[in-house]
Amino acid sequence: MFKWFGKVNYSPYTKVAEFADHLKDGFLMGSRCKACSYRSFPPRADCPECLGADFEFVEISGKGTVHTFTKIFAAPSGFEDLAPYTVGVVDLEESGRLLAWFGESIPEDRIRIGMEVQVVPRIFEEVEEIKVYYSLEQPGTTWARSSSR
Ligand SMILES: [Zn+2]
Repeated sequence: MFKWFGKVNYSPYTKVAEFADHLKDGFLMGSRCKACSYRSFPPRADCPECLGADFEFVEISGKGTVHTFTKIFAAPSGFEDLAPYTVGVVDLEESGRLLAWFGESIPEDRIRIGMEVQVVPRIFEEVEEIKVYYSLEQPGTTWARSSSR
């Protein structure tokens, strides 16, 4: 359910809504087109290569390198209480990019473009609605996964 990503919900239902369910269970999932095997992260229901609409979820490692990063002082709606914070854009090993916050394992003064990071799924458990996000951590960081699969 995409409402788990935050207060503002632009897409209440999509064909890739299961993505958030997988994240909640601790799995980073990309998509693979069943027709041409094109892989994408975040997952896409419609293939940009062959325009096929048949896809499957495939787990990705979450390993990547920092493409760029920035410190946010003027936060967007819903995140005002958290500023200032640092976010990075990561080039994923399996192709694709994502934007995420830096986690506690990487001090701000050690952040560098090109450094290796591990993307880790997180859940805000202290809020009423479950919220999923991810953070950037040291390579080799492990995290809990649901054992119900
Ligand atoms: Zn395709």
